[in-house]
Amino acid sequence: MSAKGAYNPYEMARAQFDRVADLIQLDSATRDLLRSPMREYHFTIPVHMDDGSVRIFQGFRVQHNDARGPAKGGIRFHPQETIDTVRALAMWMTWKCAAVDIPLGGAKGGVVCDPHNLSPREQEQICRGWVRQIARDIGPVRDVPAPDVMTSAQHMLWMLDEFEWISGGRYPGLITGKPVSLGGSVGRTEATGYGLVYTLREALKEHNLRPDATVASVQGFGNVAQYAIELYTQIGGTVLAVSCWDQEDQTSYTYRRPDGIDLAELRSITDRFGGIDKGKAAELGYERLPGEAWLEQDVDILMPCALENQITAENVNRISSRVKIIAEGANGPTTPEADEVLHTRNVFVIPDFVGNAGGVTCSYFEQVQSNTNLYWELDEVLGRLDHKMTSAYLAVSELARRQKLYMRDAAYVVAVTRVAQACRDRGWV
Ligand code: NAD
Repeated sequence: MSAKGAYNPYEMARAQFDRVADLIQLDSATRDLLRSPMREYHFTIPVHMDDGSVRIFQGFRVQHNDARGPAKGGIRFHPQETIDTVRALAMWMTWKCAAVDIPLGGAKGGVVCDPHNLSPREQEQICRGWVRQIARDIGPVRDVPAPDVMTSAQHMLWMLDEFEWISGGRYPGLITGKPVSLGGSVGRTEATGYGLVYTLREALKEHNLRPDATVASVQGFGNVAQYAIELYTQIGGTVLAVSCWDQEDQTSYTYRRPDGIDLAELRSITDRFGGIDKGKAAELGYERLPGEAWLEQDVDILMPCALENQITAENVNRISSRVKIIAEGANGPTTPEADEVLHTRNVFVIPDFVGNAGGVTCSYFEQVQSNTNLYWELDEVLGRLDHKMTSAYLAVSELARRQKLYMRDAAYVVAVTRVAQACRDRGWV
């Protein structure tokens, strides 16, 4: 999440929490406990650079809450990383894991650096240095890191290797996001997009809509969007339009075909960053529209699967009156102001931290497999994923119906209530 002007993600995360705490009349001790991270670590990482100089990088790990299980969360490499961003993301991880009812808490970490300007050797030194500083306070039963912005499976393996040198054993459950050949889980690539559609499928049932009678428009054509489209079309849906970023023109475009897009065909002309080749799209008969056009289509379902802050007070009224469901694949695609409009218009929202929790759920499966050293087949992973996502969705939608809550509020209520209960059950508050 980028810092824009005075926007402070930690303040926003706390404001959201305060609202839910009021809603469920949380006692003041639990409120104080959950408003702040339980532990945070700030440390320096000295690196001998390729040119002979030594540079000191700043590293963080924030463990927001681990009452429900070992903390879990990614590690970001970013030049503008701030402790407040890391704190907010750690808190959101606590809620996300609780919302899908996996036995993990929330954490996040980071290093202030720009991998674009660092050699692989220098990046390896940062990864190993990060682990050396925190090895005693992370681990398969304490805190389990994962990749995030600008970190990859390779970074995770360097970190795991360093941890295992220090610990004197093999602990693949330390970290997730590993390649399948070295303790990763099959199904992780599909998990977020498929997970979103498992929840969408349930929402359609509740709205008495047959998937094959629905049409959708999607923002993004990367990992989440492509697998969401794959499963949505498999269950019968039609995708009318997708939008993506065009690196060459430094703008976004929407690609539309009236009889629906062809996933395989579009994938074949898409780069690894999820950018569609506009020349080839034109040859294949796709109309090219402005970037925001994805949001204005005459469809039943919108799936924002690209970035945060996309459905806003400025554009929310351009959403067609035909739209019944918004399934959020991206993190934070809808602003609070837009939420209010969607709520009054009775648009049903599957909120991000339920809709896109398939990724973290599959990471949890990776951790379970690594800890037991027994690896599952794809069918088993996807079957369990479907079960988890469906149960999570149903718990939230049932509460929303019963207490007449907006879906995002219901998801927060479910999550915060579970975490607060775990803290009480342990006798912390
Ligand atoms: P990705 O990098 O694979 O794809 C991003 C897509 O968004 C690309 O197609 C890109 O062209 C498009 N895009 C970028 N800017 C755009 C713009 N202004 N307008 C339209 N399209 C634009 O990323 P991803 O892994 O698919 O993640 C997408 C979102 O989902 C992010 O918010 C991410 O935090 C969230 N998310 C991802 C996962 C996961 O497992 N990958 C899990 C949870 C949440």
